[in-house]
Amino acid sequence: VSATTSSQTAQVDETKKRLIDGLRVLDGEGMFEKAFGHISARVPASELIVMMGHVHEHVRTLAQTRAEDLIVIDADGTLLDGPYEPPGEFHIHTEVLRARGDVGAVVHCHPRSPVALSITRSEVLPVTWRAGIFHPRVPLLEDPRQIDTAERGRAVARTLADGRAVTLMGHGVVCVGADVGQAAVVTIDLSDAARFQLEAMAAGGAHALPDELIAHRRDTPPEAEGFTSAWNYYRAKWCRGDQR
Ligand SMILES: [Zn+2]
Repeated sequence: VSATTSSQTAQVDETKKRLIDGLRVLDGEGMFEKAFGHISARVPASELIVMMGHVHEHVRTLAQTRAEDLIVIDADGTLLDGPYEPPGEFHIHTEVLRARGDVGAVVHCHPRSPVALSITRSEVLPVTWRAGIFHPRVPLLEDPRQIDTAERGRAVARTLADGRAVTLMGHGVVCVGADVGQAAVVTIDLSDAARFQLEAMAAGGAHALPDELIAHRRDTPPEAEGFTSAWNYYRAKWCRGDQR
C-alpha cells in the first residue's frame, strides 16, 4: 500500500538513496554496533519521514539495508509504506522532527565513547576544534530507558533544544542535521569528541577550549566545508561503486 502521491514518489526515492548512504557510512564508521540504531530523514516539503523498518531479523548489518527495507511513516509514526513496522524508538525521530523545522535528518545509535562518557555523568565538551560545533556542551538526558513513548521522545527533543546532539545516559546518542550527510558527520564527530575527552581525562584532565576562541563554531552552517568535505570523504570510503 502506498499513501504517497506520484509527485512525492521521486522525492521519497531520492530521500531513500541518501538514507542508504547514511546507513553505510555510519555502519562503516562503527556507529551501529550489533546492528542497533537507526536514521531517519524528512521528505522535503512534506510531513513524510523515511526511516529503517524494524529490520533486525532480516539483515545482518545495517550496511546491508536496501531501499526496499526502508519505510515511510507520517509525523505520528503511522506506517504508510514499506514491509516492516517502525522500530520501537521511532518516537525519537517523530518528536525531534516535529520540534525542529530546521532538522532534516535524525540519527540514534549507541557509540562506545559517548556512552562511556555518560557513565561518568560528564557532558561532551568542545575539547577539539571539530567538537566546537557542540559548544557549549552536549546535554545529557539522565534517563537510560528506551525512547518508546511519545512523552520520552518529547523529553529528548526538549533536552536537545536548539543543539546538534543529546547523550542518553548509559544508552546512546541522538544527533541531528539539516540533511542525512550532516547528521551522519555530526554523529561521527560526537563519537570522536567523546573519545578525545575520555583519553584526556585518563591522561590528567579534559578542558573545553576557551569560549572566545570556539563559541562561534556552534553556528557552523550545514554547507560549511567541515561538513560537506567530511561527508564526501565518508561516502567515497563506504559507498563508492555501489549498484542499487
Ligand atoms: Zn537506543
